[in-house]
Amino acid sequence: MKENKKRNEFILIGGLLLAAAVFYGIFRLSAREPAVYVDISIDGQTIREFPLDQDTEYVIESEKGGINRLVIEDGAARITEASCPDKLCISQGSASERGQTIVCLPNRVVITIK
Ligand SMILES: [Zn+2]
Repeated sequence: MKENKKRNEFILIGGLLLAAAVFYGIFRLSAREPAVYVDISIDGQTIREFPLDQDTEYVIESEKGGINRLVIEDGAARITEASCPDKLCISQGSASERGQTIVCLPNRVVITIK
């Protein structure tokens, strides 16, 4: 009888833990909505947005003919090619956290993780 009670408790605790894990999982999934995305702006105007969780490659063309090649890969955005003379945007590396930015001053391009 005592043995049975212990077992029931064990099952109950196990069930609670499982439920908590499931709820935590759902919470984590729903907390991710809306998905993190990459905002591309030129001169402060958003021109394109891409979800960060989808691998993409996009060439940003600024008004004066400057280009920045944006690559989104493995949940991180980076600039792999740019027409600007300083190439600072390339050396800034990749951004993957909300609030991080990659800036190309000569082309007036700002990549923001939102
Ligand atoms: Zn640049």
